Amino acid sequence: MQEFNFSSSDISDNFDTLTVSRGLRYYQQNAVLHCQVGRDRDGDWEIESVVRGRRPYRQEISIYQDTFHEILIEGNCSCPVGHNCKHVVAASYYILHNHIKNTLPRYGIEQKAPEEL
Ligand SMILES: [Zn+2]
Repeated sequence: MQEFNFSSSDISDNFDTLTVSRGLRYYQQNAVLHCQVGRDRDGDWEIESVVRGRRPYRQEISIYQDTFHEILIEGNCSCPVGHNCKHVVAASYYILHNHIKNTLPRYGIEQKAPEEL
C-alpha cells in the first residue's frame, strides 16, 4: 500500500476551468454536507459525500494514481450531469482542506449523515 496525497493543481488538472470555479465556490459556501473518506488496499482514496445543490446530491469518488504517477479523480454523482461535476470538485476541495492539510483521522464521518438530510 502506497499512500499519496493530492493538491489543488491535481483538482484543476482533472476538471475544466468552469467546473473547478463552481465547485470551489460550493466548497467555500459549505455546501459539502457529508464526507466519508477511506483508503483502499492500494492506497487509493475512496470517498462518499453529499453536496447540496438544488437539492442534496450524492457522490462516489475515487482518487488514484496511474502508472505514470499522475493523479486521477473519478467521481459519479446523482445530479443530472452525473460524472466529474462541480459537486465532485467541491468534495475534492473539502478532502484537500480537512483530511490532508489538517491530517484528521483517515477514516471518519463528519457533519451530517445522509439519513439526517
Ligand atoms: Zn453532481
